Amino acid sequence: MDATLSFVQEGLPVRVVFGAGRRRQLGDEVARLGIERALLITTPSKRSMAEAMAAQLGGRAAGVFDRVAMHVPIEIAQAGRAEALRLGADACIALGGGSAIGLAKAIALEQDVAIIALPTTYAGSEMTAIQGLTEDGVKRTRRDPRMLPRTVIYDSELTVTLPPRVAGPSGMNAMAHCVEAFYAEGATPLLSLAAEEGIRALAESLPVLVDQPTSLEASTQALYGAWLAGMALGGAGVALHHKLCHTLGGSFDLPHATTHAVMLPYSAHYNRDAVPDAMARIASALGVSDAPAGLFDLARRIGAPASLEELGLRHADLDRAAELAAAAPYPNPRPVTREDIRALLEDAFHGRRPGAAA
Ligand code: NAD
Repeated sequence: MDATLSFVQEGLPVRVVFGAGRRRQLGDEVARLGIERALLITTPSKRSMAEAMAAQLGGRAAGVFDRVAMHVPIEIAQAGRAEALRLGADACIALGGGSAIGLAKAIALEQDVAIIALPTTYAGSEMTAIQGLTEDGVKRTRRDPRMLPRTVIYDSELTVTLPPRVAGPSGMNAMAHCVEAFYAEGATPLLSLAAEEGIRALAESLPVLVDQPTSLEASTQALYGAWLAGMALGGAGVALHHKLCHTLGGSFDLPHATTHAVMLPYSAHYNRDAVPDAMARIASALGVSDAPAGLFDLARRIGAPASLEELGLRHADLDRAAELAAAAPYPNPRPVTREDIRALLEDAFHGRRPGAAA
């Protein structure tokens, strides 16, 4: 045991109900929390499923709101809050990915509503009290215990419908939570164990999901990894990688999950020599000898976009992106400088193998 071991571990009080078909237990979970008027929040494509859930809840459902948008624009948050108020909702049931869950959190931040989340992607947001709201083109992240879901129902029958081009990058988003949980400010031995197991589950299942998108077994394994990733993220927090992705998403409008998939090998490489023990455990969970190279190969294997250029970033934007990402950096094991970040972004722009000479 390392004599310098020192940490604070705080368990987040989320009830987790996991298993294929578990969404059918929603009524019991609603009753368990004493919810009387739940507003279901979802995307237009999931509206009919949300309506069927509302019908099953009968008088305990107040309505369905389907105006969900990525990165939770303030106008959408305000519309959702107004609808919750109008209906006298005492809970939000979010059926969807991080965007639907993010809207439920935005409502819970201002109104006294409980959240039940039924995630349909691997983003991990359902296990955290963190939320990003976009106002005047800037995405601001906040953490508040009022936004933590009370109950999460993980049903892999909901994620098995994800097309491979969404499932793979979404899984790499979860992978990023696991990787950074090892060295983020709130890292603890227990969260590192969760993250390690999450990496193993995701590394095994994501390639299968790309080859056999309807595999319920692989979807269940990936969702298990996503749960662990969300728990690790919610407890340990984030470092350089998430700061880079928040900058690229919030200020350059790059898509969330694919940006994580592109950036993770480079941000891991940036930190590799600063946290050798963590990198050894990450590599071992991936089943490779070098963690950043293994993440790069996995991203290629699942068919994620290969570079920031492919995601639509302009080369002329790299200087500003480096400036923004290096300003007010999140705590990170290797010091963050504008010059080093600019070099990292150059490699990511071209999709070079991390560590390879330019
Ligand atoms: P998303 O919720 O925007 O969904 C992505 C796309 O997939 C959408 O078009 C959606 O309609 C579709 N989709 C979702 N589930 C599907 C399914 N089962 N089958 C078919 N299509 C489906 O994407 P996301 O990556 O889950 O979430 C991204 C958002 O979540 C970002 O705003 C990000 O900041 C936030 N997020 C927050 C946290 C946190 O802890 N606060 C963690 C991760 C992500």
